[in-house]
Formats: sequence, C-alpha cells, structure tokens
Amino acid sequence: MDPAMRHIWKRVFYRLHRTLIFPKRNNSGHAEHTAFPASSHSKCIKPTLLVSRLYQPSNLRDVGQDSRLAGEMTCKSQRLMQQAGLIHPSNPGCYYYLPATVRSMEKLVRVIDKEMQGIGGQKLDMPSLCSADLWKTSERWDLMGKELFRLKDRHGADYCLGPTHEEAVTTLVAHQTTLSYRQLPLLLYQITRKFRDEPKPKFGLLRGREFYMKDMYSFDVSEEAAYQTYESVCQAYNRFFARLGLRCVQVQADTGNIGGTVSHEFQLPADIGEDRLLICENCSFSANVETLSSNRTDCPQCKTGTVVESKGIEVGHTFYLGKKYSHMFKATFNNSQNKPTIAEMGCYGLGVTRILAAAIEVMSTEEGIRWPGLIAPYQVCVLPPKKGSKVDEASVVAEELVNTLGETLPSLRGEVVLDDRTQMTIGKRLKDASRLGYPYVIVVGQAALEETPKYEVICQQTDETMFLSKDGLLDLLGRVETV
Ligand SMILES: [Zn+2]
Repeated sequence: MDPAMRHIWKRVFYRLHRTLIFPKRNNSGHAEHTAFPASSHSKCIKPTLLVSRLYQPSNLRDVGQDSRLAGEMTCKSQRLMQQAGLIHPSNPGCYYYLPATVRSMEKLVRVIDKEMQGIGGQKLDMPSLCSADLWKTSERWDLMGKELFRLKDRHGADYCLGPTHEEAVTTLVAHQTTLSYRQLPLLLYQITRKFRDEPKPKFGLLRGREFYMKDMYSFDVSEEAAYQTYESVCQAYNRFFARLGLRCVQVQADTGNIGGTVSHEFQLPADIGEDRLLICENCSFSANVETLSSNRTDCPQCKTGTVVESKGIEVGHTFYLGKKYSHMFKATFNNSQNKPTIAEMGCYGLGVTRILAAAIEVMSTEEGIRWPGLIAPYQVCVLPPKKGSKVDEASVVAEELVNTLGETLPSLRGEVVLDDRTQMTIGKRLKDASRLGYPYVIVVGQAALEETPKYEVICQQTDETMFLSKDGLLDLLGRVETV
C-alpha cells in the first residue's frame, strides 16, 4: 500500500477506534450520546434529550401533491405520520423510517419477541435474497406472478426478494438429518424486511412494497401436535394485541397461495380496511367474506344469529400447512423408532410496520397521533416556559425535573424529552406535543415555582389534565409500563 494511503487509513482506524469501539465515557460509566449534549444549566454531565436536536423533520418538502411518491394521501395514519416527521416517502410503496418511528418499531419488536419466545419461538434471520431454485421447487416462482420482485445475479442466476420464507426455512430444517422428535415442536421465526410488488401501493405503511414482517414456522411430530402449536400461536397473537390495547378479531380465512387447510386472519376493524369481515351478533363466529358464499346473512355456526359486515385491516395471519412444504423439501425428523418422518408444519405472520400504522390509524384523532402507550417513541415531554416570560426561572425547575425522572424511575431512562424550543410559546409547543402524541406532557410554569410546586400533567391518551405535586407525578409515571 502507498505510504500516504497507509497514513490515511491509520488515521481513519484510530478515529473509528476512539469513537465506535471505545466511546468517551462519563463518570457513571455510560457512553455519552454526543448528539444530545448536556443542557447548559445542569452541572453534572448527563445527556438530555432535547426536542430541538431530535431529527423529526416536519418541514420536509411537501410531496403530498406528488402522487407518484406518496400515493393517495387518503388515510389518517399516512397523513399524520408524514406531517409529524415519522416517515418520508422515497419511491412508490417505500418510506424512510425516521428516528422516532425506529424507536417505536424497536419497542414493538421487543413486545413481539417476548410473546414468541414465551411459546418457545427461537429467533433467526434468513437471507432476503432467495434463490429461484427453491421457489421453482414449490412452484411458487410461477404462482406468485408479478407480486414477486425478481432479479438476476452477474452469472445470470435468478433470484427473488423474499416476500415469505416457507421454502427457505423448510430447506434449512431438511438439511439437519439428526433432528430428533425430542426437539419438536420447533418454532423458528424472524423479523425482517419483506418485499412485494404491489400494483397500487397506498395508505403509507399499510400497503407498501417493502415492509417488516414477523414470520414464524413450526415443525411438529404429528397433526395433533401441530394443531396444538397452531392454537398456542393464536393465543400468543391475541395476548400480543391485547397488550398493545388493540381490539383484534380472529377470523376464519382463505389459505390463498400459501396453501394448507386451516387459516385465520387477525383483523383490526377500521373504516379504511380493505378486507370485508362478517361477524355474528349472537356467537363468536367471524370470517372473511372470501370464505363464505356471497350475500349470506345467517350465521353458519349458531344458525340463529345474523352476521353483520365490517371492514378490517389484516395485521396477522396463521396457516396450518400440514406436510405441503415438508414433503416437497423432505424436512424430516427421527421418530422414537429412529425412522425419518415428515414433519407437520404451520406458518404465522405479523405485519410489523402495518401494525404500527394500523394502531395509529385506529387510535389517533384527526389532529394528533395516539400510540399504544407501550410503543410510543418517548413516554414523557417536559415543557419549560417561554424565554423572557414572567415565569422564565421555572425553566431550571423543568431541567431538574427531567434529571429527577431519569434518576428516580429507571424505566423512564431515555424516555423523557425536554422541549427546549423556548423561543416558542407554550401553546405552540403543546400543539406539537399533541401532534406527536407523547403519552404524558408536563407543563412547568407558575405553579412549579410555588412553595409546594405543582406540575400540569396532560395524559394524551385519556385527554385528562391534572395538577400534581412532585410525589404525585413520580407516583403516576412510576406506573408507566415500558418495554
Ligand atoms: Zn353465530
């Protein structure tokens, strides 16, 4: 290597080493987040999340008119997410997920991991670039038609960008010739980007061409065991949606091109939903219209009830696959007599980005985003008074409050932001806070300077406002569930 180049490389490496591998540490041993400098008033060095520094651009060039980019701006979640600087369109059906969205997504992934691992799921990660050979074996290379994104490598070999991974995971399991019945049920899942060449991408993250999906695949010793696994995944899905505070309906569904015999969809009732559901007013029966003969108004389950139609957004789907893929790819396990036996399979999807957008769609007001509390990007926003106002000195109280919350309530560490844009009025910043939907907004004003300081707390999910002492505030926020 040229000595000058070597010199440059050494410098680059040294810098990387300093900044990435051994970041500067503060007294508490935590790496400093240099993007969020300590506020000027606090004496100890502690990172404070300042709204003025967060990359949440609400002033991006308006692409609302450019339908090629944004699609039809007809749904609430898309409009609110773009206006709040959560997403930005890049090309049809593809979005930049801006930092607040990524924070929310990471929380959503943690909630999903907990439920999937709670029923024995093991997380893996499979390539998005899938060989055409596998898809030709399952005949889905032709069946998928134009929905599949196809490409060729430099050697002329065909590939697709995986929209789902039945072929890939079954091949993986088939390669293990020593899989024992004692290791089953085997539940493998991943949370990765998926690709689908939608003819008309629309509704923001609800129907994109590149999106995140959780896909799980189960391998069982028998049909009976596979149905038990199927049931336990459905229960985990119901727990998961309940945890987010989403009222999902589990409906009988068509198996489509995935195949198999039993299938359910998890639908979130919403006006903009593209699926039509029939729900019995009398019993637990609910189904996708596709599965029933048309214009049916009597309930096939209880016979006496009337079914009513509702629209839904599909946020999850489960399939009992049987031996369809395991037979094709020879995914076997050794049974108790040590004989290779074809495994029984199921597959289970959750539309991760779609769940995020669908939750915003059904929970938000027309003016502001409301999140499932658990996955809000930040839990608390503290508003100090406007600079130069009568109660200017309360801004020190506000900064101290941010520090106290972080120190006293470990679950809120990294969850409290300070809206330091004190050149703006409280009213203007409150409007922004409402648009972004922090579950708790704390206004530090006149009442915080009194002998017994009081803080104005707005719970945005319930639309309640209360005045609390510091203890009352700590008590309220101490009960906030974070993930
Ligand atoms: Zn019924």
